[in-house]
Amino acid sequence: MDRPWLGALAAAAVRGVQLPTMSNSSIRRERVPLIHDNHSHVSLYAALASCPDISGLHPPEAMRLLRSLPADSLSVVRGWRTNELPVGPADLASLPPVLLINFSLHGFALSDAALPYLSEAVPDLVEHKDDASWREANVPRLFDAYCGLSGVTPDRVDAFMDGLLPLGVGSTEDMAVANPESLAAMRNSGSAARIRSYATPAAFMAMSAEERSACDGVKLFLDGSIGARTAGVRGPWLGGGAAVLAYRNEELDGELSRIASWKTDASIHAIGELAIEQALDSLERLRKNGAVFPLVRLEHAQFISEEQGRRARDLGLVLSMQPNFSSDSECYADRLPAAYLENNNPFRMLIDRVGFVPGTDLIFGSDGMPHGLAYPATLSLFPPFPVQRLSLSELLAGYGPARGMDGVVVLEIDDQARQVRVMEES
Ligand SMILES: [Zn+2]
Repeated sequence: MDRPWLGALAAAAVRGVQLPTMSNSSIRRERVPLIHDNHSHVSLYAALASCPDISGLHPPEAMRLLRSLPADSLSVVRGWRTNELPVGPADLASLPPVLLINFSLHGFALSDAALPYLSEAVPDLVEHKDDASWREANVPRLFDAYCGLSGVTPDRVDAFMDGLLPLGVGSTEDMAVANPESLAAMRNSGSAARIRSYATPAAFMAMSAEERSACDGVKLFLDGSIGARTAGVRGPWLGGGAAVLAYRNEELDGELSRIASWKTDASIHAIGELAIEQALDSLERLRKNGAVFPLVRLEHAQFISEEQGRRARDLGLVLSMQPNFSSDSECYADRLPAAYLENNNPFRMLIDRVGFVPGTDLIFGSDGMPHGLAYPATLSLFPPFPVQRLSLSELLAGYGPARGMDGVVVLEIDDQARQVRVMEES
């Protein structure tokens, strides 16, 4: 169209976005195909969509919302950022019945009033509510409990998937299908052709042969998260925290050999250098012993070193990383020393020095934090540190085109405001 700003203006008006004046020459627009998000949690987010989300609220507003929850039923609330909203024993004693899920999904808190509601449904969560190591070693179980308490249905899956389209995402992957019911909800939805699925070991064990064949692989969690101060980084953590590794070395070897025997892909969550090292050591041992996997993906790999990058490449691993998390270099300056902030998501090192190729053995996803193309595009073009920079074509290649559907959105790139927005094509 000859006056593209008219369409952009209309789209901005619809969303209540203030559009910069057209004399601002720092703004460029690019038409891009819908992308495939290589790392999300479809069933979990579909289940949690019905729960209040406090991640966008200021701490006093979030606390007001929590205090106003019903007193006579259990509420599940998501998006709790522990660095912004400290919740202590006194708060938990006075809040209505609530299961409060950490923004990273790896941690949770239970108010005292929630205990009677949960002691029968999820006794293990109640028993270990104050045990960070247990929670990190049992993330798949947490996802299973969150999905069970909130409920996954085909309608909710479709609503979730359709909500991704205006954000620029056409298809995605559920990186931790927690039970056969969640898989069934996705397969019975109208969006089935746009979802790939990785099951947790417990879920995969509980599936029939037919259900297993509908999964693309099995997902293991080796370490915790930065949000919960439990990622596998050597540290020292500022203001408290400790690496939590879910497996001992022999246990991990056993778990990976079992996945190899299932002849399915392995996907391994490893954020910190200690967890990455553990994964590489184990895979090198198994390789020597003749184990063969169709494909092994290392998820996150945020603090991977150059030496580890070379070993990963020699092993033929795919790095599945999240440009979104380049912002951890800013928002987690309260807990990570400067060297970690600077070496988080070292894309230039991986691509330029080690030889990873976006879209081939370096793939990108959002982890749903947040969903959509705008945030990773902003952090790729305008990153906190130069080593995190990706060109738009590298970013799009790393995500890849949507599967099971076609479509186009418009990226509005504002070089002056250092921000990217996604708009529907008009
Ligand atoms: Zn994830």
